[in-house]
Order: sequence, then C-alpha cells, then structure tokens
Amino acid sequence: MEIMTAKGLLERYGLTPVINVSGTMTSLGASRVVPEAIEAGAEIQSHFVAIDDLQARAGQVIARLTGAEAGFVTACSAAGISLGVAGCMTGTNLGRIERLPDTEGLKNEVVVPAGHLVNYGAPIDQAVRITGARVVPLGTAAMVETFHLDDRINERTAAAFFVVSHHVVQEGQIPLSDFLAICKARGVPAILDMASEYDLRGPIEQGADLVIYSSHKFLGGPTGGIVAGRKDLVRAAYLQNRGLGRHMKVGKEGIAGTMAALEAWERRDHAAARATELEYVRYWADALTGVAGLRLETHRDWTGNPIDRLKITVVPEEAGLYAWELADRLAAGTPSVRVRDDLIEHGFFFLDPCNLAAGEEKVVAERIVEELTRAAKRKDGLAYTLSERKRRRIDAAISWPD
Ligand SMILES: *Cc1c(COP(=O)(O)O)cnc(C)c1O
Repeated sequence: MEIMTAKGLLERYGLTPVINVSGTMTSLGASRVVPEAIEAGAEIQSHFVAIDDLQARAGQVIARLTGAEAGFVTACSAAGISLGVAGCMTGTNLGRIERLPDTEGLKNEVVVPAGHLVNYGAPIDQAVRITGARVVPLGTAAMVETFHLDDRINERTAAAFFVVSHHVVQEGQIPLSDFLAICKARGVPAILDMASEYDLRGPIEQGADLVIYSSHKFLGGPTGGIVAGRKDLVRAAYLQNRGLGRHMKVGKEGIAGTMAALEAWERRDHAAARATELEYVRYWADALTGVAGLRLETHRDWTGNPIDRLKITVVPEEAGLYAWELADRLAAGTPSVRVRDDLIEHGFFFLDPCNLAAGEEKVVAERIVEELTRAAKRKDGLAYTLSERKRRRIDAAISWPD
C-alpha cells in the first residue's frame, strides 16, 4: 500500500516539519504510527462493521497482551480514566449510566495519592471529576502513607486511582504493591494509569483491577486508549459509550489501528529497536562532546521504561544563553527541533530517541552546534528569564489561532 508521506501534506498546508526529540507528546502528534496500524486503520475506513463486535475482538487482543480478562479501546487514556471511573460508579445499570454526571445515591468518591494529581496537558483530576465523581486526595504531595489510604476509604468510595508516570512526585509515595493490597482488602477497585509505560503485563499480574494505556505513545498506534482488566469493570466502563463515552468516541480506525499496533508490538524485535535508539544517544554524546557550554550525561528513564536519553545541561556563562533559549531557538528553526524541556527550569533538557527517523539525529546535533556558535558570535543570548518565557507561552496559547 502506498502511504502518503507527511511531507506532501505539510507542504500543502504550509506547516513546518518537526524533528521530535521530546518523546511521545500529544502537542506534536504523539508518535510515529507503525505501518501495520496505518494500514489497518486505512483498510477499515471503507467498511462497515458492528462496533460492539470489533471492540470484543479488540478485547481479545488486549487480554492476550496484558493478561487481563477483558478490555476495549477508547479515544485516549484521558477518556479511559473517565470511563473506568464512571463504570466503577454505575456498574451495568443503564439508567445510572445515562444519569451521569448526576451521582445521587451512588458511591462517588475516588481516592488518589496527592502526589499523583498531575497534568499531562490537562489536569488528571478533571478526567475523574467530569464523571460526577469527587476526587479525594490522599496525604500531601511528597508524603502519602498507607494510613492515608486506609483512612479515606469508606462506604462512598467508588474507586482508588494510582498513576505510574515520570509526571508524579517520585518521593514519599505509597508503593504500588501496598496500594493494591489495601484496595483488595477493602474491596475497592484499583484503577492504574499506565498511559506512557511499557509494561503491559505487570499491573494485572500484581492485581490491578483496571489498567489504562495510550495507543499513540510507545505502542505507535493511532490516537486511542486501552482499558484492560476485570471483566465486570471493563463491561461497566464499555457501557459508558451509551452515556458519557459518546462525548469521547473512538472510531473504527482507532480501534482497528490499536489492535494492529498491539499485534505489531507483540512481534517487534524490541532488542533491535532499543539498540538503534542507543546508537542515536551515543551519536549525540560523541558529536556534542567538547562543545563549549554543554554538559552531557546519559539518563535512564525515570520509571524504568527501556529508554535512555541524552541529558544536556547548558551552562549559561559559557554558552552565552540559557537552556530555554537554546530550546526555543532549536524549535524556531526549519525543521523545528523539539527537545524534551519539561524540566528546563533546572537548566537542562533531554534528547529523546524514541521517535527519530534515520538521519534526523545528525540534523539535531548540527542544529545545536549551529545555535551555540551563533550565540557566541552575536552575543544575543541571556535575553529573557524563565518567567518571561512562561508568560510568552501562555500569551501564545490564549491567542490561538493567531
Ligand atoms: C499521556 C498521559 C495521559 C493522557 O493520555 P492520552 O492518551 O493522551 O489521553 C494520562 N496519564 C498519563 C500518566 C500520561 O502520561
């Protein structure tokens, strides 16, 4: 099958090509979709199919890969969180499903470690609250103990929610095993957000009741989410498509594409993919060694996913510009090189190799050297602080589409 190249389309609409060294970012189109998923999504576009049947087949694929009893595909992980929480409140009662977000008479509290109340582009508590559920934070940001969980579970508790992610506070949290053990002992369904995590089997093995993944992150699928888990809860979550789920509908192409991405993941030579990524990181480390103003370090993924990134610290006095200025100048070029800058307040950013196409690694290194050379010559760096950058970014966001 002939796959339309992005270049033609970007040119037609006057869009700047992007080299994504930031990771699977929604704001950049998440990931490079694997050919199997593109083909499956394209193929199903010209057919009709009973969606309930297609979702039941998707459930079989999800069950095989995760070890769960059942599963289905959602519009995205954020949708999966909402539908999972809603299912824990309504069960299979169709009247209650239509009544949400009115939760009168239902268990409607969701306990969440306070340090897990993250923002992945939108605040995670909102994904819970739009169902009508009430978020009950456990402990404080960097101190959540098992007694907090024990204390806040009561007869109104519908579910307990736990997030595995680099976004969460890493210190002082309840270990997942303790969290799951308490939920089990108290009879509360545990929902696990694994949107960006590679481990498909671990959570179910450890006893999570519902687990959520994004199709469009490491799996390289189309935009979509995966809900896997206990059959009764998966069924209750799926039935939300007759209610709240309608507002976050996944299409046949998203379901078929997610199934194909999962099957491709099962067959992929993961060792070879990782070796290629490591080559990119080594290439950057070599190409940038000795460049004035930079300190380099290889950095292992925060939550143990098999990803190494190059951490680049910019020393402003030597480089003549701040880390965020370098990041902004790289992004402003053509192609636009987008580095991973979520921790840039510390003066460093990362190069993430997950979404690279061969050859792009060279452009990234060249662009970094080019911008540092230019800044040294023009002495036009150290021009704006981090607060100014933040303000500019918010101004830009609220003036969209201008
Ligand atoms: C990305 C992410 C989400 C949201 O995933 P979408 O599929 O884009 O909705 C939720 N939780 C975590 C931890 C994430 O990293």
